[in-house]
Order: sequence, then C-alpha cells, then structure tokens
Amino acid sequence: ASSTPELIWFNGKMVPWHQAQVHVLTHAIHYGSSVFEGVRVYDTPDGPQVFRLTDHVQRLFDSAKIYRMDIPFEHEEISQACKQAVSLNGLSSAYLRPIAFYGNVGLGLTPPRVPVEVAVAAFEWGAYLGEDGLANGVDVCVSSWNRLAPNTMPAGAKAGGNYLSSQLISMEAKRHGYHEGIAMDVNGMISEGAGENLFVIRNNVIYTPPLSGCILPGITRDTVIQFAKQHGYEVREELIAREALYLADEIFMTGTAAEIVPVRSVDQIHVGNGKRGPITESLQNAFFGLFDGSTTDEWGWLEPVNQT
Ligand code: PMP
Repeated sequence: ASSTPELIWFNGKMVPWHQAQVHVLTHAIHYGSSVFEGVRVYDTPDGPQVFRLTDHVQRLFDSAKIYRMDIPFEHEEISQACKQAVSLNGLSSAYLRPIAFYGNVGLGLTPPRVPVEVAVAAFEWGAYLGEDGLANGVDVCVSSWNRLAPNTMPAGAKAGGNYLSSQLISMEAKRHGYHEGIAMDVNGMISEGAGENLFVIRNNVIYTPPLSGCILPGITRDTVIQFAKQHGYEVREELIAREALYLADEIFMTGTAAEIVPVRSVDQIHVGNGKRGPITESLQNAFFGLFDGSTTDEWGWLEPVNQT
C-alpha cells in the first residue's frame, strides 16, 4: 500500500501534493513521452539511506538521452530532489519516483524544443509482491505477449511508453491468477518480467538474460550479479530458453520495487521443491543485510538522505 506524500518536488521546488498537476494536453499522456526511475530508500541503523541513487539518476539521464530529451537539471539537482522528497515529507523509508516528461505542447507528435518537466514523488511503500512472496515465493506464468523487439522501442530505456507492454503482461498474469508474468523476447528466448529481471539457477550456476536489447539493465540485477560473484557462484549472462524455467532448481526475480523475490512455480510447474531455494535465500540475505548493517557496503551503494 502506498500513502499520499504531502509535498512533491516539481520543476525545481517542493510544492503541496495538489499543486503538482499537469494539463490534459500533456504530451506524455497522449504519446508516452516520459522517462522515469524507481528508487528505494531504506530505514537503516544510520538513518534513511538511498540505494544506488547515482546509478538511478544516471539511468534517468541515459533514458532521456536515447529520446533526445534535455532534462533541464543537473544530476546533482535530481539527487538532491530525491533526498528532499524523503526528508521534507518526514519519511524514514520510501519508494521514489523521479519522472521527466514533455508537458502541454499542443498535439504535435514530435516534441518541440520546450522545457522538459521534472517531478520527484516519495511514497511509503512495502514489498511489491508482498512480504509472503519474499519468503515463500510467487507463482508466475509465461506471457502470451512478447517483450518489445530490439529496434522497435528500446527496452533499455525506462520510458513511460514501454509500460504499456508491461501492463499487458502483468494484467494477463493477474487475470489468470498468477502474481506476475514473464515475457519472451521476439526470438522466443526469456527476456524479463513486467517490472523485474529474471534469474534461473541450475546445478549451482546462475543464469540471467544478457543486456542484448531485450531487457532493462536493472540495477538490482547488477547488484545481485556482484553479490553472486562475491559469494563464489558462477554467473552466466546468456540466452535462456523457455524450458529452462521448467527445469530450474531455483528462479528469482529482481527489481527496485520487487527487491529479490523467489519464484515457486512457472505455468503451474513447481520450481525445485516449490519453496525458496538456498542460493536465492543467501542472495536475499546479502541484499537485505545492506540495510540492517549485516552486509558491509563496500561498493558505496548507500547514500544518506540527511546530510551531516
Ligand atoms: N525490467 C523492467 C521492465 C522494470 O520495469 C524494472 C524495474 N525498474 C526492472 C527490470 C528492474 O530494474 P531495477 O532493478 O533497476 O529496478
């Protein structure tokens, strides 16, 4: 469940929630022309800390660059906006939503050279696929919808329009009683979930689809790869066929919202013994350990919200 923030950072200043509004002719509503991020802030023993903020802000600017969109703020200003949205709302943990979009520019398809609008909202938000999902795993299906094909719309940009694909995948999954759907790419190989990257484990080797234009380069994905290597696991970024899902010892999905969530069944076939597997659990422990202090942050991934 999310609650409404009192203040939202909008085009350079904090404004009351009801003032953070756009016009019905906002370009992004008509044509999907927004780029955004999802960032988590964790309540740690050292106060609220943002996880991998620099990487999320970089990906926001990367997504904008792909679409030739000029964000009229510096990276540092967006980072500060993220921290302010947390601290000025008095939050100790949060899900942050920075978004840049073309506003009210009339009906022309090609966005004219107008200032891009930018907002950052901070919400209180629990586990995306539920606390139960984190411990016991979720049930997923292979979607009848494929993910965006390379050279149609870039899956590597986190753009508003891409989430029409994600909505089709996740609505279909929920309609059929699953927690989430996994999409194949245009060649029929595994790509990702509606809002998560995917990992498949067999015989102690960890497989995940490569960054070859069919997935979002997830920041949690990168985090997990680094933990897995540190723990001595072999990680292979390579194409994965659908049947590997049915033969896996363990499967888990990663995302800022989803965190690290075990998959206990795919298309009603049990993954392993149908419970969270040991490698998944050890990676979850490493990840959540960052936020209670039991994992040392040797990468500098945590950034305090309140500067000293
Ligand atoms: N794929 C898609 C389509 C997503 O929306 C997300 C969530 N941002 C991810 C993967 C995971 O990315 P991250 O770990 O950076 O949140």
